[in-house]
Amino acid sequence: MMGEFKAPKGTKDILPDDSPRWDRFFNAVETVYKNYGYGRIDTPIFEAESLFARGIGDGTDIVNKEMYAFTDKGGRKIALRPEETAGVVRAFLEHDLGRNNPLFKAYYKGPMFRYERPQGGRQRQFWQVGVEALGSADPALDAEVIDCALESLSAAGLEDLKLHINSVGCPICRPGYTTVLRGYILTEPDRFCPTCLERAEKNPMRVFDCKNPGCAAALQAAPLITAHLCAACADHFSAVLAALQVIGVAAEPDPRLVRGLDYYTKTAFEIKSGALGAQDAVAAGGRYDGLVEQFGGVSTPGIGFAVGVERVLLATEAAGRPAAGPDVYVATLGAEARQAGLAAAKGLRRTGFAVAVDFSDKSLKKQLSYADKAGAGFTLIVGDEELQTGAYVIKNMRTGEQAALDPESLEPWLTSQKQEGA
Ligand SMILES: [Zn+2]
Ligand SMILES: [Zn+2]
Repeated sequence: MMGEFKAPKGTKDILPDDSPRWDRFFNAVETVYKNYGYGRIDTPIFEAESLFARGIGDGTDIVNKEMYAFTDKGGRKIALRPEETAGVVRAFLEHDLGRNNPLFKAYYKGPMFRYERPQGGRQRQFWQVGVEALGSADPALDAEVIDCALESLSAAGLEDLKLHINSVGCPICRPGYTTVLRGYILTEPDRFCPTCLERAEKNPMRVFDCKNPGCAAALQAAPLITAHLCAACADHFSAVLAALQVIGVAAEPDPRLVRGLDYYTKTAFEIKSGALGAQDAVAAGGRYDGLVEQFGGVSTPGIGFAVGVERVLLATEAAGRPAAGPDVYVATLGAEARQAGLAAAKGLRRTGFAVAVDFSDKSLKKQLSYADKAGAGFTLIVGDEELQTGAYVIKNMRTGEQAALDPESLEPWLTSQKQEGA
C-alpha cells in the first residue's frame, strides 16, 4: 500500500515497532547524565542563522554547505540547528545561567539538521544527545565529561568502546602549527586532492579528515600538533590523560584527530564502537574555551560532547536486541465478548499492564497467531463460554501455563506470573 508521498530524502520515520529501542536508549543515557549532575535543556529547533555562523565558523562545511537556512515571513534569517552547543551557549548567556553557579551542566536530546549525502547512520534530520558543562577549565572536568560519555554509551548497550583523544591547541599555539602544516601541504600540492588544497588555505587541520588514500599517504610524514602545543596546552593535555588513568579510562592519543568545528580548543575526543567497525565515531566532543566570549559573554570555559543516536542504534542493532511486545493480548470472539474484553483491558492497564485488544474479528487461531507475532507475554481469551461462566481463560505464552479466572483475579495472577518469570 503506497500513497503519493514519501518522507523527504535523508529523513526517516521512527515507527511504533522501533520506538521502544529509542526509548530504552534515551532512558539509559539520560539516567547516566543525571547521575553525573546534568539537567535537561530544550532549546528551539531553529535559531538566528548568524548564531551558527558565529559559533561554528564561517569557514566550515556545516555553515557553508550543510545548513538548512531560510528567510521567514518576517524577513528574519533563520537556520535549523545543525548541532546543539551553539543553542545551549546562547541560552546560557540569555538566562545568565552562570550567575549563581560555578559550573553550569546541561544535557540535551533532539533532532539536528544538515544537508549531507545520506548514508548508513547519517541522515539530514538526525538525533543527537549530549552534554555541555560551562564554567571550569580544570582538566579533571575533561576526564569526567569523557567518562560520562563512555558510561552512557555502555549503559545503552554498546560494547568494545575506544576513546581517541587529542589536543587541538589554542589561539596561541594553533596558528603556528597550521602555518607549518599548510607549508607542508603546499610544498607538494600535486599529492593532495582539491578539497585538501582548499582546506590548506582555510582550515589546514581538516586535511586529516580526508578519506582519499593518496592524501592519507601524503600525510604520513606531516608535522603533528603534539610538537607545536604551547606549555599551557601541553600541560592540560597530560593532566587530562593522567586523570583518565586514575579513573580507569583507557585512552588512545591520536595526533591526527581534528574537529570540523572552529570553536574547539585543547581537548578533542571521539568514541568509536567495535560494533560499527572502522566507521564514524558514535560520539565526539571537546573543549570550547573561546565560544562564550565569541557570543559576547564574559570569557567562560566549556566542554561537551554529542552522541549520534542513529549510529548507536545501528551498532546495538548489530548486537541484536528484540523489541518488547504487550504484556497481555486480549483475544475476543463476538461483539459482546469484545466489550467485556475492553473492560478487562481497561482494568489491567490501570494496574500498569500494557494491553492490546484484538479488533480483527478473526478466528481464535488467527488471533492467537497475532498475539504471538506481537510478542505478547500473555493472551486473555474472552468468548461466549467465558461470558456465560464469568471465567476468562488466560495463557502464559512463554510457559504455556493456562488458568480460568474471574476478571477480578486476573491482575493478581498476572502479577504473580510476572514475578515468577523474573
Ligand atoms: Zn596552546
Ligand atoms: Zn584530500
